[in-house]
Amino acid sequence: GKNGVPVAENFRLEQSTIADMIQAGQVRVRTLYLSVDPYMRCRMNEDTGSDYLLPWQLSEVADGGGIGVVEESKHDNFAEGDFVTSFNWPWQTVAILDGSLLQKLVPQLVNGRLSYFLGAAGITGLTALLGIKEKGHVAVGANQTMVVSGAAGACGSLAGQIGRLEGCSRVVGIAGTDEKCSILVQEMGFDAAINYKKGNVAEQLRELCPGGVDVYFDNVGGDISDIVISQMNQNSHIILCGQISQYNKDVPYPPPLPPDIEKIQKERNITRERFLVLNYMDKQEASVLQLCQWIQEGKLKVRETVVEGLANIGAAFQSMMNGGNIGKQIVSVSK
Ligand code: NAP
Repeated sequence: GKNGVPVAENFRLEQSTIADMIQAGQVRVRTLYLSVDPYMRCRMNEDTGSDYLLPWQLSEVADGGGIGVVEESKHDNFAEGDFVTSFNWPWQTVAILDGSLLQKLVPQLVNGRLSYFLGAAGITGLTALLGIKEKGHVAVGANQTMVVSGAAGACGSLAGQIGRLEGCSRVVGIAGTDEKCSILVQEMGFDAAINYKKGNVAEQLRELCPGGVDVYFDNVGGDISDIVISQMNQNSHIILCGQISQYNKDVPYPPPLPPDIEKIQKERNITRERFLVLNYMDKQEASVLQLCQWIQEGKLKVRETVVEGLANIGAAFQSMMNGGNIGKQIVSVSK
């Protein structure tokens, strides 16, 4: 429902039997990894608020990003043993899928870390990279300061690193625990990180960004974003990636800013255009190769929080929505 907080009990696991035979054009796959993402909260409403997202149906199998191995194929593009992925992978241990919905994966591109194709070398990495490229106006030598909210999450942890790779001179993260903040600075090369659950965020931000904020990669919206926006410079840019703090509330997307913050945004000519990674899929192939290259070169540090077993996917989703993840939340599925 529109205002509910998602819990593990919203999901149930059932045993069932799939067909013995596959038809022409189909493949039988064994699931290896499933992705758990904030947008799934919107699929738990009858109206998802987006024409590109279909609601999950009560008592039907849920689906999302997934990776598996082909066990049997009657599709020309796939053979037994191939690793494949889809945005609409059913939350099943084994499934019969239409081959036309699958993409083949090359494990060597990610040093054999297949699950990265759901995160750093998948939609998450694309969101961070293309969000910055399309909406960030980052330029080498422009001495820009970037702030990232939801910074220790899947997109945020990559966005800060990519902001730096693309040319920002200072990158500051905002995240929900001291451990996350320490990882951002020690491992991921952020200049500083603020635990928004401790102390005065506005004061800390002012100290850490003395020249103001030029680029804001916004994953969370709400109070945190209001604080950041009020410290943004003239002609600066918000990358409106997500608004997770608002997903359990019945508000439109993107949620309107409070009047005083909207006034600042307009007066300072701060751009805040909606960004949707799916609108840039013509850039997918080249961008994934760029992300894989950075991963191989060690320039992009990747963190995952992996939960074992399909039975625990509801709990993994609940945990991620409450900040239990560092980096990408993955569910590892074995038969
Ligand atoms: P994520 O950040 O890995 O996971 C969610 C994190 O958000 C949690 O770990 C939690 O960390 C933080 N959070 C939860 N509730 C919060 C609140 N009320 N206030 C502040 N932080 C809160 O998820 P993700 O996959 O990287 O997604 C990040 C955002 O990007 C989401 O809003 C998602 O919808 C969006 N997204 C957009 C696109 C696009 O095309 N525009 C594509 C993918 C994802 P803390 O401990 O820091 O609270």
